[in-house]
Amino acid sequence: ATPMSIMTATGRGAQSGVLIKDAEALERFAHIDTLIVDKTGTLTEGQPAVTDIRPTGEHSETELLSLIGSLERSSEHPLAEAIVTRARDAEAKLSEPEAFDSVTGKGVTGRVQGHDLLMGNAALFQDHNIDLSSLDQDAQSLREKAKTVMYIGVDGQLAGLIAVQDPIKKTTATAIAALQRQGMRVVMATGDNETTAKAVAGELSIDEVRAGVSPEGKQKLVDEYKRQGRKVAMAGDGINDAPALAAADVGIAMGTGADVAMESAGITLMKGDLTGIVRARYLARGTLRNIK
Ligand code: ADP
Ligand code: MG
Repeated sequence: ATPMSIMTATGRGAQSGVLIKDAEALERFAHIDTLIVDKTGTLTEGQPAVTDIRPTGEHSETELLSLIGSLERSSEHPLAEAIVTRARDAEAKLSEPEAFDSVTGKGVTGRVQGHDLLMGNAALFQDHNIDLSSLDQDAQSLREKAKTVMYIGVDGQLAGLIAVQDPIKKTTATAIAALQRQGMRVVMATGDNETTAKAVAGELSIDEVRAGVSPEGKQKLVDEYKRQGRKVAMAGDGINDAPALAAADVGIAMGTGADVAMESAGITLMKGDLTGIVRARYLARGTLRNIK
């Protein structure tokens, strides 16, 4: 492409909040045939809210909120924010954790008010050999409603679950349809559970769903598609997504997300919704046509 046409495209992009790093990113984006997208914060608002709390017995709802609310204050995950907000709304007493550890892609662990705590997904509880089957039915029916389920463990026992819901962005469905018309296969990759991921994907026309994917798993997925000869773009917002963004032919960061994600990206979307990807594709294709 001519320097002039590239400048015009990147300038037009910038005006609509689509920041394209350089000519290379723009040209590569014209050839992309596979778009992998993170679920939370990319397809959805990224502002989950607690919808359900199900204690299994010993500890009341408020007690559980007090314990895990205290623990999650130390986490930067959007799910943690939802729990802290709910704990504050319920006027649960929050205290400083005596210990805190974050387990990437799984949850958090620590000690609060003299209790050993676990909070996170099934994989975290499997690591600690805690059986979840007494909550299987509850968890499944919540996930079928597109909710994300997190289990709570207190002193080595299953103490309940918390479900959150994160609404799909209003622009997501239209943008996905437009990208598919532009010849892209759209793949959702998420650390969330398969049932929840499929319930969200069911509301959209996603071509493929990969659930229970770790941060390294997202990067491997990018590599897997590249080995198949596909040209891959990856869109995400989190620290989690940075390795996959860097491995992709074009990384796309949500401007509302983590700084590291933006550093690994060829394209940054200031508005943080998929409409910017449709726009970038249109600009990239237009520039490509100019050289021919
Ligand atoms: P995503 O790919 O959707 O952004 P992550 O890889 O960040 O998801 O997290 C995967 C799963 O790990 C979440 O769905 C949740 O069950 C659990 N998890 C992660 N962080 C936390 C946290 N701070 N508190 C509770 N659960 C968490
Ligand atoms: Mg995420």
